[in-house]
Amino acid sequence: MTAGGKGREDKLKALERVKQGERNFTRTYNHTLSKKIVEFALLHRAGTIKMELLEGYGKDENGQDEKSKFILRFWSYYELQSMIEQKAQAAGIVVLKIDPYHTSQKCHACGEKGKRDKAKFTCENPACKQHEKEQNADHNAAINIARSTHFVVKKEDCFYYQKKQEEKAEKKRKRNEEKPKE
Ligand SMILES: [Zn+2]
Repeated sequence: MTAGGKGREDKLKALERVKQGERNFTRTYNHTLSKKIVEFALLHRAGTIKMELLEGYGKDENGQDEKSKFILRFWSYYELQSMIEQKAQAAGIVVLKIDPYHTSQKCHACGEKGKRDKAKFTCENPACKQHEKEQNADHNAAINIARSTHFVVKKEDCFYYQKKQEEKAEKKRKRNEEKPKE
């Protein structure tokens, strides 16, 4: 055994236990939260729950699958969504996915792009009744999601994805143009 081998192993095990503990905590929290959301929908006789489509957008420059990276980073949201979907389905509530494009950047009152700073959202449109009023960013985004009719099923339907594909195609086209002709 190399020096410090056992100690390192113990540390890794301890870290793994902490991670597992965090996962269990989040899972329990997500169960409670998803239950409350579905109960709220039932109480208000809502037949539909709208959520943003959470998905990665293809592969990055290194060819790594962005979806797996995305899930790794946002697995708790991903888990929460799938719990809501399962519980909603069992309760006869339809779950629809919304294109996440600009749902948190635009003001729910006027539709103009505003300023998002962590939990705060500020509308910069002087003609808007929310102008320079401090809004809760999640609340603002939730209203945009609730009002959105841009339903999507897969990432290819999303504006972000389409835009990214167009940008990639544009880059490729430029590269080909720059290539000296033989
Ligand atoms: Zn506004």
